[in-house]
Amino acid sequence: MRNTDACRVGFLWNPSLETFDFGTKHPIKVGRFQMVRDFLAANDFLSQPNVEILTPKPLSDDLLKTIHAQKYLDAVQRMSETGEGEIAIDTPAFPGIYENASITSGATVTGVNAVASGKVDHFLSPTGGFHHAKFEWGGGFCIFNDVAAAVYELKNLGFQRILVADFDVHHGNGTQTYFYEDPHVMQISFHEDPEWMYPHDGFIEDIGEGSGRGYNINMHFPMDSCDGVYKHAFDEIVPPLVEFFQPEFTIFLPGFDAHYRDRLAHLNLTTDLIRYTTTYFHNAAHRISEGRFGVVAGGGYTNESFKWGIGVVMSVLSGFSYEPPKQEPPYEDDDETWDRVRGNVEKVKSLVFPELGI
Ligand SMILES: [Zn+2]
Ligand SMILES: [Zn+2]
Repeated sequence: MRNTDACRVGFLWNPSLETFDFGTKHPIKVGRFQMVRDFLAANDFLSQPNVEILTPKPLSDDLLKTIHAQKYLDAVQRMSETGEGEIAIDTPAFPGIYENASITSGATVTGVNAVASGKVDHFLSPTGGFHHAKFEWGGGFCIFNDVAAAVYELKNLGFQRILVADFDVHHGNGTQTYFYEDPHVMQISFHEDPEWMYPHDGFIEDIGEGSGRGYNINMHFPMDSCDGVYKHAFDEIVPPLVEFFQPEFTIFLPGFDAHYRDRLAHLNLTTDLIRYTTTYFHNAAHRISEGRFGVVAGGGYTNESFKWGIGVVMSVLSGFSYEPPKQEPPYEDDDETWDRVRGNVEKVKSLVFPELGI
């Protein structure tokens, strides 16, 4: 086991990540990734000897054809040439969208390869986490599914047990479709109740099919859930699954859009909880898989909480200290929230654990 105080961390960044334009009213604003880079530089992360900038490479044609239908790729290419049309109602086209999606998603695969080859122990991709994209469909701000691409890359490299820990506030509905029958990929998704929250998918009963039964885990939370109930669910569900599965590689979406300052959704986490979950997966990766751990930022639509979350994650990965401002959500977990979360936790455990013999 390496000394975790000196983990080598790759941060994926290059100005080419910024060549997108969803328009000024879109939640994903131009300048988002430059802002992350500048924030990390201003907090001295990028001058640490164990942190290096990795230059993202575009997705290969082979991986693109593995994760998406040719007719979908052709449609994105046509929109890219004209800048007209839309991938979905919330995901407008712009000139060069094909190339931009290829590099912002390719960053995750570049990170995975840097960890798999031993160049770094961990990576952070500020652009990654396009978990809504499916084989023949894009939307929810997602064009090419980088999480699926990273998993296929790892499979091509011979990895047998890959964990996708998706704590974005929205369900990873796209990623789920690729590996729903695959026991080599465990997907744990924590998200807001799909009854009302986009993408209206990710119910507890959806536990995988065939030999993949039990390897797809969905846990959802009622509106206004705070750190307390979320930590309870995490402690009850995640460690037994990770101990059982013994992942060889973990890809983590920390869920910056589940923060209370982020009002595109309605969960009320603070970065204390994000530090807790990141620390758990980081330590588990060192204990189980020689530290192989990658973080893709996913959502996060309020600049302040997005930056605090990135700082906390980089702090856990690199060992360099960073403390965000004190946060006090204007909500607390009431009895009704506790009852519903405890009920959901028991349902997850009773459906999933027996399938896996836990
Ligand atoms: Zn480490
Ligand atoms: Zn999200």
